[in-house]
Amino acid sequence: MANPLYDMLFARHSDRPAPLMRLAGGGTLSYAEFLARTAQFARLFADAGIEPGDRLALQVAKTPEALMIYAACLRAGIVFLPLNTAYTPAEIAYFVQDSGAKILICDPARREALAPVAEHEGTRIETMGADGLGSLAARTFSLPERFETVDRSGSDLAALLYTSGTTGRAKGAMLTQDNLLSNARTLTDLWRFAEDDVLLHALPVFHAHGLFVACNVTLMAGGSMIFLPKFDTGQVLERMPQATAMMGVPTFYTRLLAEPGFTRDAASHMRVFISGSAPMTETVHRRFEDRTGHRILERYGMTETGMNTSNPYEGERRAGTVGLPLPDVELRVTDPDTGAERPRGETGMIEVRGPNVFAGYWNMPKKTAEEMRADGFFITGDLGHVDADGYLTISGRKTDLIISGGYNVYPKEIEALLDTLPGIAESAVIGVPHEDFGETPLAVLIPDAPDAPDLAAVQAAMAERLARYKHPTHYEVIEELPRNAMGKVQKTVLKERFGRSSA
Ligand code: ATP
Ligand code: MG
Repeated sequence: MANPLYDMLFARHSDRPAPLMRLAGGGTLSYAEFLARTAQFARLFADAGIEPGDRLALQVAKTPEALMIYAACLRAGIVFLPLNTAYTPAEIAYFVQDSGAKILICDPARREALAPVAEHEGTRIETMGADGLGSLAARTFSLPERFETVDRSGSDLAALLYTSGTTGRAKGAMLTQDNLLSNARTLTDLWRFAEDDVLLHALPVFHAHGLFVACNVTLMAGGSMIFLPKFDTGQVLERMPQATAMMGVPTFYTRLLAEPGFTRDAASHMRVFISGSAPMTETVHRRFEDRTGHRILERYGMTETGMNTSNPYEGERRAGTVGLPLPDVELRVTDPDTGAERPRGETGMIEVRGPNVFAGYWNMPKKTAEEMRADGFFITGDLGHVDADGYLTISGRKTDLIISGGYNVYPKEIEALLDTLPGIAESAVIGVPHEDFGETPLAVLIPDAPDAPDLAAVQAAMAERLARYKHPTHYEVIEELPRNAMGKVQKTVLKERFGRSSA
């Protein structure tokens, strides 16, 4: 009998004295210590009547204990459901109700606000603070450090992970043991992770990137992590000399570049920098290489599928692309309306098939059916094209595509051009209603200096470089783009703010 994911990621390391986590405060936590605590959490959950297949929701600070709870859930067959720490109690109420979670673990400061929700849903509530302590941990210390791992099969659910909610209400993606296992194996191999790797971990652990990509790959390889509570540029720079690898969202890398102390020397011990979750511009990629000598390895994935493509470890890492399909992932580009495959080089809907593709959306059979082709391909909602060498370039989400006077306008093409112009730090292009054309592009610009940018010069550059139907008809200059915890630009917020004023 077995529990494939737990056995592979954790059980193999049970007695190892090697460090799993190097903590912000300077201490370390060995695999053996981590797993002994994990057994206590698993025991507590089982004793509390949380059964295999039940959901455990948690909204807590990033701590080693949060990861122990992940391991304990796998071990006890409980479906792990981590929640973004930014969600308000009203939002949490939705996730608890939608998932039917048996237990909710929250920050002590949130207990009072969430207690009525928990009571209403018949959900047990426990607390855990930024120090890992609280009502939950308190009950574990006297429990045995042994637990008999619950049998699971590869098709059993390991996690219920809600999408980021960038395009609408977050959807619960049902992820099986096999989904997570296949991705962990493939990525460990592809990115050459090994026991002597030390991953600089500054991502949140409520999202696929920080949890499944970063932690699962480290665990699969038997390496260790410098486990920081959040991304703090100073702290990341300070710890970098002890690390061999880093995974981050593009904003981590732009913040590092803004730091004069981030030099070739500071990055000299590093083996690889990996980026994803949001697009990395070619400019940042090049600036990073100029500064450090490292070419960032960009990859592409989503909650529903884990990772789908990656630039190669050896071989060319092509700026502005998300690389090649993973060895066990099939990828095709189709006509979004008919589903017919498009010739190589043409832009269309990205579809993927493989052991990484999820088992469907929780409680949303209709939505699941709409996004799955009969032959098992999942319709990602992202548009892109594959070049002659097989590299995928993402041109944005289908929902962000602007159709102006019948022509397709890809915001990313305009943004990429705007970002190269003087006075513009970054930009976002959205579609706004237009009487004649149906929709028209509106550009939101972030200046890189006071009084910048010169809008007349920007318009002139657009006129020179882009077909007329792609010219933004409106420009708005604001301080900062609205981004979520993963550094994703929230175009829905921009559309709400600017969508009406410019019809
Ligand atoms: P929702 O599905 O709720 O609207 P979301 O799609 O942002 O939210 P995630 O699953 O966290 O939720 O994000 C996956 C998406 O992130 C992908 O579909 C893609 O649009 C984007 N993405 C991930 N990696 C990259 C990348 N390297 N380059 C460009 N976009 C990326
Ligand atoms: Mg999505």
